[in-house]
Amino acid sequence: MTINISNLQKSSEEIKEEMFSLMQELFPICRSITGNGVRKTLERIKKDIPLSKFEIPTGTQVFDWIIPKEWNIVDAYVSDLSGKKIIDFQKSNLHVVNYSIPIKKQISLNELKKHIFSNPEKPNYIPYVTSYYNETWGFCLEHNELIKMKDKKYDVIIESKLEDGFLTYGEFFIKGESENEILISTYICHPSMCNDNLSGVVVATALAKYLKNLKLKYSIRFLFIPETIGAISWLYLNQNKIKNIKHGLVLTCLGDSGHFTYKKSRRGDAEIDETVVKILKESKKKFEVVEFFPWGSDERQFCSPGFNLPVGSLIRTMYDKFPEYHTSGDNLDFMNKNSLKESFEKYFLIISELEKNFGIKKIHVNEKREKIRSDKESYFLTTNPKCEPQLGKYNVYKNFGGQYEESQKERKLAIFWILNYSDGVHSLEDIARKSKLDLDLIKKISSLLESKKLILRN
Ligand code: ZN
Repeated sequence: MTINISNLQKSSEEIKEEMFSLMQELFPICRSITGNGVRKTLERIKKDIPLSKFEIPTGTQVFDWIIPKEWNIVDAYVSDLSGKKIIDFQKSNLHVVNYSIPIKKQISLNELKKHIFSNPEKPNYIPYVTSYYNETWGFCLEHNELIKMKDKKYDVIIESKLEDGFLTYGEFFIKGESENEILISTYICHPSMCNDNLSGVVVATALAKYLKNLKLKYSIRFLFIPETIGAISWLYLNQNKIKNIKHGLVLTCLGDSGHFTYKKSRRGDAEIDETVVKILKESKKKFEVVEFFPWGSDERQFCSPGFNLPVGSLIRTMYDKFPEYHTSGDNLDFMNKNSLKESFEKYFLIISELEKNFGIKKIHVNEKREKIRSDKESYFLTTNPKCEPQLGKYNVYKNFGGQYEESQKERKLAIFWILNYSDGVHSLEDIARKSKLDLDLIKKISSLLESKKLILRN
């Protein structure tokens, strides 16, 4: 028997309303990669699905990474000397650089400006900025508000705690007839923003809620994890389960009004890639398919060369292609309820199609093709094949995440491409072709990475 959307206990119209109301509830919570915001979010999801909560202590080594201190925040503001709040965390949690250390002092505007982030290109939005692995503090502000600040001195207060604690994540497993698994992964670390990524969270929750009572051939594993460090932690702790993962998808940016975009797995021709494309074609609506690239969300860990799992990502508008991305503009008003509904339906159809084809052996081109190495090209091997290394500690780029300058962006992309494809099969020339980055840049960055022992000549 195959599963069918019309057999669910509720109509997609009702599920749409449930997803949006869950999003409204989760929106105000100040989340981060650790802390009570994550716990609160998981507690709420637990009302819908009986997920298990896991806590990993600060200091635990997971591959090249170490679980950071836990961050919690109560309040933060900048006020003028008359006591009037100019920047207020209570109005938007995006106003504080996520992971800011506590501070309480009076400082000059010039000094304060070194700790303020604004984006002149999007002057009416608060940018989302994080500093997880570099202890500092900061505020984020609409550029139009920043230019109004003229006083000589301001009071600055951040009531936060950065101390030993835990990294928290949630997992929910539906046992199917078979041990073979479909992995559904989404991230719960972003504060008040909807498309990135409450949309992924509410679609994953609805899928889990309505699939859990069906009789399935595949087992389905749902992960609600902090992005990057959560995926790395999960992979580290569950290496015995990885062989069961036959297909996977990372859920993000599923509530905007744009058409669907499918980012293929690193393999490129896995059953999940074929299945998603088939379902999108059948909808007869506009969609886009993009080849795997080694940045973005957690697919870059699942698809790191040491795992190379068949995990893709079905999203709507690609992150960083909508102007509201990583800003206060990515709010409830930006959401399109019908997009959420359609996203839920697509994911359901993809799982139904995988169920229908269960046990039918597919032959994949990549498995048969042996790449012949060229004597004229240079090959490297990454020293961290399982998940990307914690680049912050190698001093290869600045620590501020969320927003960075263009020139730094190219450099960062080159680093990701080289690390992911230095698998002994792809040469630097292949990497330049795939990434469409300049070969000279690839060579320059590969020398840097070689000097840091992140890659070795092969
Ligand atoms: Zn994001």
